[in-house]
Amino acid sequence: SFSKRYLTINAIAENKAKEYAKAEKATLEHYGEDVFNAKAIREYLPKKSAEKLLNTINNRALLDPEIAADVAHGMKQWAIERGATHFTHWFQPLTGSTAEKHDSFLDIEGENAIFAFSAKNLIVGEPDASSFPSGGLRRTFEARGYTAWDPTSPAFIKRHTNGATLCIPTAFCSYTGEALDKKTPLLRSIQCLSLSTQRLMKCFGLKEEKVTITLGAEQEYFLIDKRFYLHRSDLLQTGRTLFGATPPKHQQLEDHYFGSIHQRVLYFMNEVEHELWRLGVPAKTRHNEVAPGQFELAPMFEDLNLAVDHNMLIMDTLRLIADRHGFVCLLHEKPFAGVNGSGKHNNWSINYGDINLLNPGNNPQQNAVFLTVLSGIIRAVDSHADMLRATVAHAGNDHRLGANEAPPAIISIYLGDQLNEVIENIEKGENNSKHKAGVMQIGVDTLPNLPKDATDRNRTSPFAFTGNKFEFRAPGSSQSCSGLMTVLNTIVADSFDYISEQLESHIGNEEAFNNALQKVLKDIIKTHKRVIFNGDGYTDEWKDEAARRGLPNAVNTMDALRSLVNDKNINLFGKYGVYSKKELQSRFEVFLEEYHRKIRIEGEVALNIVRNNILPAVIEEFKTELSAVKSATDAGITVGVDALKRNVELLGKGLEDLTEKTEKMEKAVTGLHEEILEAMAELREVVDRLEKIVSDTLWPLPKYREMLFIK
Ligand code: ADP
Ligand code: MG
Repeated sequence: SFSKRYLTINAIAENKAKEYAKAEKATLEHYGEDVFNAKAIREYLPKKSAEKLLNTINNRALLDPEIAADVAHGMKQWAIERGATHFTHWFQPLTGSTAEKHDSFLDIEGENAIFAFSAKNLIVGEPDASSFPSGGLRRTFEARGYTAWDPTSPAFIKRHTNGATLCIPTAFCSYTGEALDKKTPLLRSIQCLSLSTQRLMKCFGLKEEKVTITLGAEQEYFLIDKRFYLHRSDLLQTGRTLFGATPPKHQQLEDHYFGSIHQRVLYFMNEVEHELWRLGVPAKTRHNEVAPGQFELAPMFEDLNLAVDHNMLIMDTLRLIADRHGFVCLLHEKPFAGVNGSGKHNNWSINYGDINLLNPGNNPQQNAVFLTVLSGIIRAVDSHADMLRATVAHAGNDHRLGANEAPPAIISIYLGDQLNEVIENIEKGENNSKHKAGVMQIGVDTLPNLPKDATDRNRTSPFAFTGNKFEFRAPGSSQSCSGLMTVLNTIVADSFDYISEQLESHIGNEEAFNNALQKVLKDIIKTHKRVIFNGDGYTDEWKDEAARRGLPNAVNTMDALRSLVNDKNINLFGKYGVYSKKELQSRFEVFLEEYHRKIRIEGEVALNIVRNNILPAVIEEFKTELSAVKSATDAGITVGVDALKRNVELLGKGLEDLTEKTEKMEKAVTGLHEEILEAMAELREVVDRLEKIVSDTLWPLPKYREMLFIK
């Protein structure tokens, strides 16, 4: 009799020749077609209202109520011409995913059914929010939440087989105005970094410009055949495999990374890009990642708020199209033990007008600005490393951070050798650089050009300068970018303000200004250079060195989350109005609770799998071996019986261990998370050992080699 696994593999093999889905080819012709963008706004709105709306978007202002009716009407017209029958305020609760509640455009007018959509429908929505986590921000009797349209992220259409929904990106607040979502604090932080940047640039005598924070979020993911997935209740329920022996060949040969992309996967990727391009998401690169079955998609960078929404759409689209192609897209940080996990590198920069402030400049003044911005960031990251670490803390990422393939849990900055030397020279105030790029006096007139594109690649740093942007590599693949970007913006704003405070009194007096600038940068580097590390972040030596430097090393979620509510952070985020104390506490509670729940679910799923699948298979094998011994003995055969017995004993030992560890888990699962984690590790060790000795035909779970390699 064939096991379910064998049938699955056969089915996949037979399917090879078939087309998995009628995949759409990505075309430019449809680019942005499903977005209510500038083009659509001009086409569907009266001229004056269109210009007003475009201005609103450009200046990140609130929507003028006077034009709301025009906007609603135009948007509805646009949407129904594209097949939409419903609309939803699309928001981002603290669960980390997106939420939508659809309302149809339907209205009854006299005897006629019509499609209607009012200004009020567009601007505010009132979903019943009682079932979203709020960490005490909202009681059930005041369950109502409010969503408000954020015009800087355009409305779009989500299509499905027989219809479409107009999605309006919104912020989500409680009745009393507290942010119940991830977008509201993000928008606040963009505002505060914009103001601080303008203030700092004013010190340099630059005229006021618009500040644009940009994000390019690289998205890693795994793709496996859906038929395997359906046989793995651990993947189905927790997003990761709780058991599974590492196969002899996995990623050691380094033959997957950037390898030629499998046909079936390309087919899938093409359709993903088609969908994303329609949505105006500028998907740009695609490639195989390090682990077998692992891939990456990176969009071109965009305005931060939009890029965050687009990353949510990228994750949605990957899952949706995977399903259409008979795949499942796994966004969990560590779906498979023993091979690389998945991250989401957040590439971030600050732009002032047309100038990227993280670009070493072409003239002394730009260089001075660049080095000031750089120093500000160094100060921010060192002073608030604990808070940055907290933003990437969750159960999935615990398997990744510090696990020898992802950045360590210690937050440090990588600058590269040349820039590092520049920084060191600022501290010393000397001019004896080996490189031409050496810089001593920050005086606006005396700075030589800085190295461009000279940064080396260092893949082990959690926060790396990569030429004209910082790349925050600690975020997990399943995470929303919102929380971490909110924190990064705010701590940098604080640093910029700190610098501005020391410079402002010297504006207009060049010499005094240069001296003050020189001093503040020197002080910052002296105090905060401990956060700079250009070596290999995976080594144990770095852990020791970081400890000597006094850098925080929160090894797990529990440790890391506490920083959300320490006084230092409560004060800082309160001062900038990005998170109130209550909002921070609520997030702390929600994330902590989520962590505990996830660990407990994993414990319970593991127990089910062992009791329902693994134990029966082991007992079956045990029975077969025992009866072989008995048959041989009954037949009076002596040769081989000892060997048989040795095998029975090996399996018997496994059976005993399995039972013992299962009982341990049974007790642990109602207790503390540490106990569950310990029981889980021990249980897994036994199951993975058994996988290697139990007959392949009896093993109930799809194996790693199958899920990772069979497409
Ligand atoms: P990597 O070598 O890490 O794969 P890439 O050069 O492919 O890096 O770029 C990764 C991401 O960085 C892309 O999404 C890209 O759009 C983004 N990026 C490039 N420049 C900037 C910038 N100035 N600000 C934000 N993101 C940027
Ligand atoms: Mg990268």
